[in-house]
Amino acid sequence: MSNHLFDAIRAAAPGDAPFLHVNGSRTWTYDDALALSGRMASALETLGVRPGDRVAVQVEKSAEALILYLACVRSGAIYLPLNTAYTLTELDYFIGDAEPKLVVVSPAARDGVEPVAKPHGAMVETLDDDGTGSLLDLARDEPADFSNAQRSEDDLAAILYTSGTTGRSKGAMLSHGNLLSNALTLKDYWRVTGDDRLIHALPIFHTHGLFVATNVTLLAGASMFLLSKFDPEVVLSLMPKATMLMGVPTFYVRLLQSTRLDRQTTANMRLFISGSAPLLAETHTEFQARTGHAILERYGMTETNMNTSNPYAGKRFAGTVGFPLPGVTVRVTDPASGAVLPQDETGMIEIKGPNVFKGYWRMPEKTAAEFTADGFFISGDLGKIDGDGYLHIVGRSKDLVISGGYNIYPKEVETEIDLLEGVVESAVIGIPHPDFGEGVTAVVVRKPNAAVDEKTIAVALHDRLARYKQPKRIIFADDLPRNTMGKVQKNILRQQYADLYA
Ligand code: ATP
Ligand code: MG
Repeated sequence: MSNHLFDAIRAAAPGDAPFLHVNGSRTWTYDDALALSGRMASALETLGVRPGDRVAVQVEKSAEALILYLACVRSGAIYLPLNTAYTLTELDYFIGDAEPKLVVVSPAARDGVEPVAKPHGAMVETLDDDGTGSLLDLARDEPADFSNAQRSEDDLAAILYTSGTTGRSKGAMLSHGNLLSNALTLKDYWRVTGDDRLIHALPIFHTHGLFVATNVTLLAGASMFLLSKFDPEVVLSLMPKATMLMGVPTFYVRLLQSTRLDRQTTANMRLFISGSAPLLAETHTEFQARTGHAILERYGMTETNMNTSNPYAGKRFAGTVGFPLPGVTVRVTDPASGAVLPQDETGMIEIKGPNVFKGYWRMPEKTAAEFTADGFFISGDLGKIDGDGYLHIVGRSKDLVISGGYNIYPKEVETEIDLLEGVVESAVIGIPHPDFGEGVTAVVVRKPNAAVDEKTIAVALHDRLARYKQPKRIIFADDLPRNTMGKVQKNILRQQYADLYA
């Protein structure tokens, strides 16, 4: 039977060529991986998992965990990966919300998870990163030949929960067509071929490491060095054997801290990609100076897969996320009226294309509210398109500060602060203020022993920013709170300083 996503993966698979090199030890060929995906799909069927059932997965990163994703696609189940950091209380929300037929967890977590899963009617099986676990025990005795479930373009392949940066995570329903179309587009845009070897140090419960990295690799018949976590020295050691790295901005910041990062270490690398959070222009520039490589920044979301990318051949502009990908339409609109804005004007980024999800799981009203009448997804990100067609993201609409009736885009203020001597980075937030509604507030990380203080920053900004944009208070912190994808958690900062002007 035809299975939209898996048929394409199988057609691209180069037989006994390597697919995964895991932590420098075991190598999995495509044949090995596809055979195990068949056994696992058979095991899922034996367990009673049927097309359309959800399979929630909270396990450590491993080859088997990626292959479980393939097994779900083959069996028609909806793969639902969960952040390994989620606690049992959080798990209870996700299991209650998604009502999976099966929950797969690490063996050590089983006793804790069973009392949470059972009341929601879910079975529990286990999978460990050392190749053990009850699901693999079951799979071992099953046939590798599996008759794939019939799945068309519009059938769901996954529910991926958003990172929860701005509020409670929402389940984004992603179809076979969403995933396949985006992966094929990215493969071509970034010119990925069977000769590529990708360093994979991202988590696999998020769209970046799961779909961007894995689906693109699979559809190119390329291979990955699968690392359980990001360690800059390990990544540097792999570079002479690799051709690509996909990272969040913190990867690049940390690579720059190593003296081993230079032209020679990166000589074999073809492409460095960054996304999931804004890459500071300074990081881009320093990386290029040290290695000769211009990091390619792209922009995406759980709900939409990837939307825009800097070009492969053309100029990769620091601080921009490039052009709409082929087949994707991106426009910027006035958040109040919805009218499309001319170039260089800042507004809401809206997206339409085969990459855009089918809606939020069991949230029809929220879904309806996030789409325009003509079918564009309202991203919640603010940005502008410049005269050359490059998209610039200025922040999230939820992070916009409204002070004394004026809109302040935090990024504009952050950029000015970050340029100052002695500043590592900053986050500008709005805090309730009795006179202004919100008070512009900057949280700043200083370089060790730097002399900058509240006064020097205030003086420096005096002539650079209109008065209403200038922070009312500048606070110093050792670092900014970030989640696993390197996103600054402004909601935590807003809570922390909620009473600043009270
Ligand atoms: P939630 O929707 O639950 O609040 P989230 O939006 O952080 O969480 P994700 O879907 O993981 O969850 O992240 C998508 C967001 O990440 C985008 O909307 C955008 O704000 C940000 N982002 C992704 N890539 C970039 C980039 N290159 N530059 C700036 N921001 C980016
Ligand atoms: Mg979001």
